[in-house]
This record gives sequence, C-alpha cells and structure tokens, in this order.
Amino acid sequence: AVEFDAVTKRYGQAQVLDGFTLKVQAGQTVTLIGPSGSGKTTVLRLAMALERPTSGDIRVFGESVVYDDPARGLPISKANAGRRSRQIGMVFQQYNLFPHMTVLANLTLAPRTVLGLRRDEAEELAMEHLADVGLRDKSHAYPGQLSGGQQQRVAIARALALRPRLLLLDEITSALDPELIGEVLEVVRKLTRTTDITTLIVTHEMRFAREISDRIVMFDRGEVVEDGLPAQLFTAPSSPRTREFLHSIL
Ligand code: ATP
Repeated sequence: AVEFDAVTKRYGQAQVLDGFTLKVQAGQTVTLIGPSGSGKTTVLRLAMALERPTSGDIRVFGESVVYDDPARGLPISKANAGRRSRQIGMVFQQYNLFPHMTVLANLTLAPRTVLGLRRDEAEELAMEHLADVGLRDKSHAYPGQLSGGQQQRVAIARALALRPRLLLLDEITSALDPELIGEVLEVVRKLTRTTDITTLIVTHEMRFAREISDRIVMFDRGEVVEDGLPAQLFTAPSSPRTREFLHSIL
C-alpha cells in the first residue's frame, strides 16, 4: 500500500497540507480532485521525494520515503535513490523529454543507468513500452517532431520503462490542446485495466476520473473532505464542499 500518515506540509507561513492521511491499496487507481491550490500536486511530489514533509510519514510499499537533506549535508544514499526511482514513476503536466535525444534514447537512458540494463535489452523493452502507448513507429523521432499528445505518451512510456510499482500522474493532459487529450487518457485507461501498477492521479478530467478510478478523494485546503466510490461521489456527494466544487467545474 501507499500510505500518508498525518502529513503536514508548510511553505513558510502557508500550510498546504494539514494532517493529511490516505491509504491506497496496492493495485488500486485513486484520483485526487479539488480546487486549484488545494495541495493535490504537493501530495504527489511528497510521494516522489521531490518535497519533504514538515511532519508525518509517507510509506510506499512498506518503506518510508527517504528525502535529501542538503541543509544538514546528508545527501540521499545511492542505494535509496535507486530503490526509490525503481519503484515510482511520475509524469508531469510538461512532458520534460530530453529534446536532443530520440524517443528511443529517452526511453533507454534510465533503464541503462539506473537498472543497469544492456543497450539491446533496454531497447527491446523500450519498443514494448512504445507499442503499449501506440508509438512504435516513432522510436527514431525527436520530441520536437511529435505532437503534444504523442510527447506525453512517450513520457508515459518512459515512466513505465523503469517498471514502477507506483505511477504518479500529475495533470498530464492540462497542457494539451483539447483534441489531443483523448489519446493520452486512452493510454492511461488501458494501463489501469491491464497492469497491476498502483496509480495516483491528479486530474481535472472528471469523466475520465469517474471511469478509471477505484476511489476518488476530494481535497480542499490541505485535507480530505470526502473519499468514496466514483459513482457515489459524483452523483450523490455527501459533503457540501464536494457538491460546490463539482458544480463549479461541470
Ligand atoms: P492546482 O490544481 O492548481 O495544480 P494543487 O491542488 O495541485 O493546485 P499545489 O500545487 O499542491 O495545489 O499547491 C498548494 C499550495 O501550495 C498553493 O497555494 C501553492 O501556491 C503552494 N505552493 C506549492 N509549492 C510551493 C513552493 N515551492 N513554495 C511556496 N508555496 C508553494
């Protein structure tokens, strides 16, 4: 399971998370929804160890997440970094592909350096992941030659190339033109159906969230307002804050 236990996050005076507790069972797909600025992205960044909690504990498959601590001169150990990056994949709003590398090179870099795969092994696996996202024929293209939707599908394949057990998807369609959103969501839909990767999603695509999520967590001002099955939460929300939020966006 992925567990957030009484997690608090402050930036100076601003309290972004306040005693946030959530348990996601292995294999589940859970979507965080809520108003802009409510702390959803922060939750994912904490799990990825891109941020350190002010207090509280985060465990990913039984292991506490370890954070860099440059202030105390304690860099994360190589062993920890390796373990962490192997377990967790993250895809962001911006695709962050390496522009000077082909699609295939983007996909094989981390498997070769982090997992220590040989080039031919890494390339064979990369081609499988490209097939999963429908882009086998683009392996020799550069990111700049692809549409935004294709680049985002490459970013998903790149995250999968490290064979993560936990996948974090942070508003992955927010930067895309409307006509390109569907193809990216379709890839995620297929993933959640065909793999047992635990998936934590932040999205504003409510119809998509409803279709693919085992659970929806409604978030407001750093705390969980409501947590339930999609069918129930979207049709008969129990919290007035959820009702208000859904009303404002639908
Ligand atoms: P959105 O849907 O708009 O992305 P969100 O729910 O994902 O919002 P977060 O990005 O987690 O919200 O941000 C929560 C709050 O924390 C915001 O008010 C934001 O301004 C603040 N915040 C985030 N990162 C930092 C930072 N590095 N320094 C200071 N404040 C920050």
